[in-house]
Amino acid sequence: LFAGLLPQQVFVERPSCRFDMPFDPASLDDARRALEHHGQEVAAVILEPVVQGAGGMWFYHPDYLRGLTALCREAGTLLIFDEIATGFGRTGKFFAAEWAGVTPDILCCGKALTGGVLTLAATACTGDVARGICGAGRVFMHGPTFMANALACAVAGAALDILDENRWQMQIAGLEAAMRKGLEPCRSLPGVADVRVLGGIGVVEMEQPVNTAALQRFFVEQGVWIRPFNRLIYLMPPYASPLADVSRLCAVVKEAVHRGAYRTGV
Ligand SMILES: *Cc1c(COP(=O)(O)O)cnc(C)c1O
Repeated sequence: LFAGLLPQQVFVERPSCRFDMPFDPASLDDARRALEHHGQEVAAVILEPVVQGAGGMWFYHPDYLRGLTALCREAGTLLIFDEIATGFGRTGKFFAAEWAGVTPDILCCGKALTGGVLTLAATACTGDVARGICGAGRVFMHGPTFMANALACAVAGAALDILDENRWQMQIAGLEAAMRKGLEPCRSLPGVADVRVLGGIGVVEMEQPVNTAALQRFFVEQGVWIRPFNRLIYLMPPYASPLADVSRLCAVVKEAVHRGAYRTGV
C-alpha cells in the first residue's frame, strides 16, 4: 500500500511444515535465500510465531522458528515476534515462542493483554535494543495521546492478575479437547480441505472461499456468532467459555458444513 514511501519489505514463503508433522529443514530454504541475498540491508525479520493468524490461521512447526532464529543471529539481524494473537496462553504456551524455546529481540503484544476489554498494546524489547533506542540521551520518538493510558493499563493489570491465577492452562486444554472432538467430524465432509486445532484455536479450512454472507446468516439463525473469512471457518473462544458453549459452536460449524451453508443460504 505504501510502496516507495516506506522502507522496502521482503516477503518469504509461508513456512510449509505443519505443526503436527515431522519437520522438513527445506522449509527454511526460502528464508535462508532471502537473508543471504539481502544480507546487510535487512534491519529485522518479523513474523507471527507458530500460528499465522490473518495470514490463514496456519500452524507451522516450532523447528522453523528455531531455525529462523539461528539464521537471524547469523545474519546479525533483529528478530521480532508478533504475539498479538498468540500471546498470553492462546496456543497452550504463555507465549508461542516457548514452543521453540527461543527469545526474540522485540515482542509485540496486545489483544489478550487487556482480555480484549480496552485497546492497549505493548512492545517489549531486550536491553540491547532499548539501549540502542534510548542510549546517549536519545528518547523513543513515538508518542500517541493515549500511550500507557491509565484506564487501559488498569484493565491490563487486572487481566494479567487473572492469568496469574494460572487457570489458563486448564482452560486452554479444555478448549483444545472440546474443539478436537467437536471439529474432527468435519474432516470427512465434502468441501473440507483440513481441520486443525492448537490450544484455544480451532480451524476448518474449506477447499473454496466460503460465501461469508450466507454462512454468517446461518450462524446467526443458529444463535452463534462466528466470523469466517476466505476459506476459513475458525473459532477462538474466550478462555472462560463453558465447554457446553464450545461444543455448541463446533456442532453449528459441523452442521453448516454438512448442509452446505457455506455455499448458499440454507
Ligand atoms: C490483531 C492483530 C494485530 C493488530 O493489533 P493492533 O493492536 O490492533 O494494532 C497485529 N498482529 C496480529 C497477529 C494480530 O492478531
